[in-house]
Amino acid sequence: MPYITLIAAPESAPLMIDPFGREISYLRVSVTDRCDFRCVYCMSEHMTFLPKRDVLSLEELDRLCSAFVRKGVTKLRLTGGEPLVRKDIMTLFHGLGRHLKTGALEELTLTTNGSLLDRYAEDLFAAGVRRINVSLDSLDPDKFKSITRWGNIDKVMRGIAAAKRAGLAIKINTVALNGINDDDFDRLIAWCGEQGFDLTLIETMPMGDIDGDRSADYLPLSDVRRDLDKRWHLEDIDYQTGGPARYVRVKETGARLGFITPMTHNFCESCNRVRITCTGKLYMCLGQTDSADLRAPLRASETDSDLDAAIDAAIARKPKGHDFIIDRTNRGPAVERHMSVTGG
Ligand code: SAM
Ligand code: SF4
Repeated sequence: MPYITLIAAPESAPLMIDPFGREISYLRVSVTDRCDFRCVYCMSEHMTFLPKRDVLSLEELDRLCSAFVRKGVTKLRLTGGEPLVRKDIMTLFHGLGRHLKTGALEELTLTTNGSLLDRYAEDLFAAGVRRINVSLDSLDPDKFKSITRWGNIDKVMRGIAAAKRAGLAIKINTVALNGINDDDFDRLIAWCGEQGFDLTLIETMPMGDIDGDRSADYLPLSDVRRDLDKRWHLEDIDYQTGGPARYVRVKETGARLGFITPMTHNFCESCNRVRITCTGKLYMCLGQTDSADLRAPLRASETDSDLDAAIDAAIARKPKGHDFIIDRTNRGPAVERHMSVTGG
């Protein structure tokens, strides 16, 4: 009887493919819901934060992120709240940096309001971070203050300069707010061009209760683009980051300008991402309420088999897309949780 030699296939991570055939390769993790700013479109001034005991420890966050990396996540973004206000956050960055060294992870990055970047920029680079997103809605100090309520633009500018010196590539994110910063875009485009930063404009999304009426702030980026076209040569380009932004090149500066338009353009068909809150809830879609609790399986056992099964079950019900609506008849949030819970 002939011998058959069975050669074990090399163990490779089982990829996460959702019911619509989309491969999930991008994970955003909110490491804290706390923040040192109170941006008007994001949270109310008297926001109530989660009790600390509900929030995953840094070790648990590492274990959770590592499970996703093992399952095929190649891009990991830490966000919040403000990720850099979390105590000892650099321990998590350095720990996750090991997946960059093995090649399992292609990119480790963060979204920050920049207020603590002057302290952490060099250490972020040392942990393997190469690109960051910094949120900045205006270059005008008074306007910056009125949008962020508690922010200090000088500190943010020092942070951005420190990040640039440390060798981090920077993308500026600006939320477009009707009647508030709509006359700031020209200055932001020119400044980003001078600094060598990409810029992305974002439509407000109806998430979480804020103090005012959100429909008044909503500014469709299709209108912004039409207005910018009068003064800038914006050339459509093919640049894709796997995310919802559509990019143009600003001919005058050579820099890229992105438009994130969840309200006027449906980007769900190419969605490759899922999000985790700081309490270990997995949201398969930013604009839907369905979630899966990963904290219980994480805490139930030191092995990851329950956790892996919970992740697989959740990916199997990732919805096709969101249905955000902002209109004047529906003044409440379309999604009750704040952006600072899922981290944008
Ligand atoms: N604190 C960090 C920061 O501001 O960059 C990270 C967390 S913040 C929630 C992530 C991004 O979400 C920021 O660029 C912020 O401007 C954006 N954001 C917050 N609330 C939003 C909303 N309702 N609609 C659109 N973008 C929002
Ligand atoms: Fe804080 Fe970012 Fe929300 Fe502003 S957008 S309040 S900086 S979490």
